[in-house]
Amino acid sequence: MEKIYDIKAMQQRAEALRLAGKRIGFVPTMGYLHEGHLSLLDEAKKGCDITVLSIFVNPTQFGPNEDFNRYPRDLQRDMALAETRGTDIVFIPKAEDMYPGEPLAAVEVSRITEVLCGASRKGHFRGVTTVVSKLFNIVKPHVAVFGQKDAQQAAVIMKMVQDLNIDIEIRMAPIVREADGLAMSSRNVRLRPEDRRNAAALSRALFTIRDQLQKGKPLLETLEAGRRAIRGTPGARLEYLEARGFPDMKARDELKTGQDILIAIAVHFSDVRLIDNVIVSGS
Ligand code: AMP
Repeated sequence: MEKIYDIKAMQQRAEALRLAGKRIGFVPTMGYLHEGHLSLLDEAKKGCDITVLSIFVNPTQFGPNEDFNRYPRDLQRDMALAETRGTDIVFIPKAEDMYPGEPLAAVEVSRITEVLCGASRKGHFRGVTTVVSKLFNIVKPHVAVFGQKDAQQAAVIMKMVQDLNIDIEIRMAPIVREADGLAMSSRNVRLRPEDRRNAAALSRALFTIRDQLQKGKPLLETLEAGRRAIRGTPGARLEYLEARGFPDMKARDELKTGQDILIAIAVHFSDVRLIDNVIVSGS
């Protein structure tokens, strides 16, 4: 497994691979890898010759009161895990190289970034679309894989690629969960033991909503029952539990035939913010 720290070196390597006719599959992450990230690497291999994993805790997508400094990091462990999944190249840029001086250019997607996570995390998606654009220009992938765990992020990236004619295939891979249903997340290690136990309430609420919808129960009623369940969970502070069209992020108050609805949730346990979702298709 090759480790590249330098931006120019990564660009030259990517260019050489392209000239040799290789297809590059790319998985951008913030590290502290778990099975969710590794499943994206498996997806990136499909139809590609080379998989590139980036590890970069991007400061510009964290708000001033968020957990940038407390975000878990373990590069040695990440490298070992990436290697077990046959990653070809790990790209680990330094923040001072990614953001030398005052950045004046940015990439921004409007409207769909203003709801759900974007409503409380001002500037978050601008940070994401800007860093992902930069990484695309450095890694030059043919395919990039994102997790449904961050479904709004995947929708935003898909829109960015569509609207800016970026010649990269975007794939969204399913959510990988712990045995009790909790969506895997690097942040889960920061949960206190009792909060970790109670955090299964998120997926429980989402699965109940999905089951109720499939039985024909009205959307708004099932959402309200889900909110009540979270409010009754010790230690949980509900930020949102909402239904939106996927990927258009428009508000939805019913499940219509042929439409995909994203049921998305964000809950705080102490200073740890967790998100999760399910996508339900109207039949
Ligand atoms: P992060 O390191 O949290 O920025 O995540 C990097 C990528 O991994 C994003 O595309 C996430 O959506 C994806 N991801 C994170 N957790 C999971 C999970 N439990 N299942 C699938 N994909 C995930």
